[in-house]
Amino acid sequence: MNRLRSLDITYVKGIGPKRAELLKTQLVIASACDLLRYYPTHYIDRSKVYRIDSFEGDMPTLQVRGRFVSFNTVGEGAKMRLIGLFTDGTRAIDVVWFKGIASIKRNLQTETEYVLFGKPTLFNGRWQMTHPEVENPGSALATSGVRGVYPLTETLRTRGIGSRKLQLWIQGVLDSCNRIEDPLPQSVCRSAGLMDIDRALRVIHAPSDPKELEQARLRLKFEELFYIQVDMLRRNNRRKSESVGHVLPRIGDAFNTFYAKCLPFELTGAQKRVVREIRADVLTGRQMNRLVQGDVGSGKTLVAVMAMLMAVDNGMQACLMAPTEILATQHYESISELLAPTGVCVRLLKGSTRANERRAIHEGLRAGTLDILIGTHAIIEEDVQFRNLGMAVIDEQHRFGVAQRARLWEKNEVRPHVLVMTATPIPRTLAMTVYGDLDVSVIDELPPGRKPIATVLRYETQRLQVYKATYAQLREGRQVYIVYPLIDENEKLDLRSLTEGYDIVRETFPDYKVAFVHGRMKAEEKDWQMQQFASGEARILVATTVIEVGVNVPNASVMIIENAERFGLSQLHQLRGRVGRGADQSYCILMSRPNISADTRRRLELMTQTTDGFVIAEADMNMRGPGDIEGTMQSGMAFDLRMANLATDGMVIQMARDAAERLLAGDPELSQAANAPLRRELEAMVRRTADWSRIS
Ligand code: ADP
Ligand code: MG
Repeated sequence: MNRLRSLDITYVKGIGPKRAELLKTQLVIASACDLLRYYPTHYIDRSKVYRIDSFEGDMPTLQVRGRFVSFNTVGEGAKMRLIGLFTDGTRAIDVVWFKGIASIKRNLQTETEYVLFGKPTLFNGRWQMTHPEVENPGSALATSGVRGVYPLTETLRTRGIGSRKLQLWIQGVLDSCNRIEDPLPQSVCRSAGLMDIDRALRVIHAPSDPKELEQARLRLKFEELFYIQVDMLRRNNRRKSESVGHVLPRIGDAFNTFYAKCLPFELTGAQKRVVREIRADVLTGRQMNRLVQGDVGSGKTLVAVMAMLMAVDNGMQACLMAPTEILATQHYESISELLAPTGVCVRLLKGSTRANERRAIHEGLRAGTLDILIGTHAIIEEDVQFRNLGMAVIDEQHRFGVAQRARLWEKNEVRPHVLVMTATPIPRTLAMTVYGDLDVSVIDELPPGRKPIATVLRYETQRLQVYKATYAQLREGRQVYIVYPLIDENEKLDLRSLTEGYDIVRETFPDYKVAFVHGRMKAEEKDWQMQQFASGEARILVATTVIEVGVNVPNASVMIIENAERFGLSQLHQLRGRVGRGADQSYCILMSRPNISADTRRRLELMTQTTDGFVIAEADMNMRGPGDIEGTMQSGMAFDLRMANLATDGMVIQMARDAAERLLAGDPELSQAANAPLRRELEAMVRRTADWSRIS
């Protein structure tokens, strides 16, 4: 591989400086290695010849075999084209050329047998092919069997660089190599049952057997994912061996009193497991960086409280940061109530906190009399100084962003342990890749006794029934959410439908007070409206997705989602999680336009069938791809994914993760001779990314 990497494509037979420049700028192919790593997106079977009378519908690019009956030039000047009438004996088609007419006329004869390779299209009721590849029936290409089709740009095509050229150059490189050195250690290939790189590259560019092609694909996918896992794990190991963290050995009064007296219920098995994982982390002397993933309502708050008490029992402070004032306030209220019997001092700091309260908090923090600070972004402002911060919890991490997280508490000499809690479940295998530098815990069990939220799909024509059912819940004293999509907070149209919705709701339910929030409101107004609903003053909340992030109103039992077809599954799941927080049966009603596609209907129906956030996240990813997550991840990553797909290759990710763990356990620095090719490969990839990013 190394030799191929240092071989500039300019010197590959048939390329030369001009084309090399094109390949570099258009496809980021600079070396022979890059060229071999440029894989076909699909294949065309050239062992098959189609009958023209079998053409129907949308035909693929294919081969036909026959003779030209005649050639006619029509039109003039720039509009001139050459039309050849071609027949295979079953029927005739028009073959059309717009360019190079003179040379085509010179080179093609009637009555000679040719194989044409192109995509048939219907034009004015007649089948035609434009600019097909023309071969003699005996030529190597015409009988070459399965051939790769490469992703190319328009610029390359107009300069005459097509799949066939690429194929020839790649074949040339492959023919000149004896055997390509495998960057993956043999032990890895063997235990994962993988094809070696030499075979895999030959097969991927010119497969002759579908089974073998599958194996080559698997090998190349695995390889990409394996590099990522090795890289992530090494970073993580390095962080663990280099970063210093507070040791919190004592389980003391606060924790014990809390556990014995304040816990209103038995912890779930999953909560216990995660608490144990955190406990193990804070004993190592390394800084903890742990992500806790748990579905809405899985009880993350309790886990956070116990983690914070670990710090308090060791004479240190803790903080919990939430993304909104409402959430921070809710956390503060429930946590200070929970901890009342323990004597732990808890305070709330938000943007709107008054100056004298703020001063008292600052003093308490510096003096060490304040144990736990709960708040918004306000708690990471410059003037907030802890005496000794031991544990920092961040709730709903996705609102903070990874970069922000990295900057937190930089000023502390020894950084606090960090616990990130997210209710956006992402599939486990994806988490391994996206949060590869964090340790991940999962709360995969809901507290007992929860009634699954009854979810139904309803159409506009059924609106009256929906309102009737809603009325019944309101009369029983319950509260109701009605959510409208606001894809882009600036879209006037969306805002209008929201305001109209608000008016209709007020008219429909005149006996009840209706609160109203959307993203373009001022923060204070939003907070006030939310407070109206949280306090029970308002019984209905008409809102956009601003409520998505964790408000807790246990008395709310109905969630109506308007235009549900416009939301993603994970978002629907988050919204639905706003109800079902009390002991009573709750309902989620997905309102949809009637004429939706089969896919959309399937998506919505899945929501009515399961309430398992992980199942939903998995399905969402399979249907829509990893979306933003992949985007965020890929930027700043040295390794592209060409063959592997984060959404659908979960199994391979797991394989790669296991293999990477095994390998690094035996050779953490990759210093053994058998792992040298792998180390070189990783280094080369990082260098290459650095070079390209400097260019672009
Ligand atoms: P989330 O994970 O969404 O933040 P919370 O921590 O807000 O969930 O918990 C949701 C509700 O479940 C709260 O009312 C909490 O008191 C309750 N809860 C948490 N753990 C348990 C448990 N082990 N048994 C019963 N109820 C629990
Ligand atoms: Mg929560």
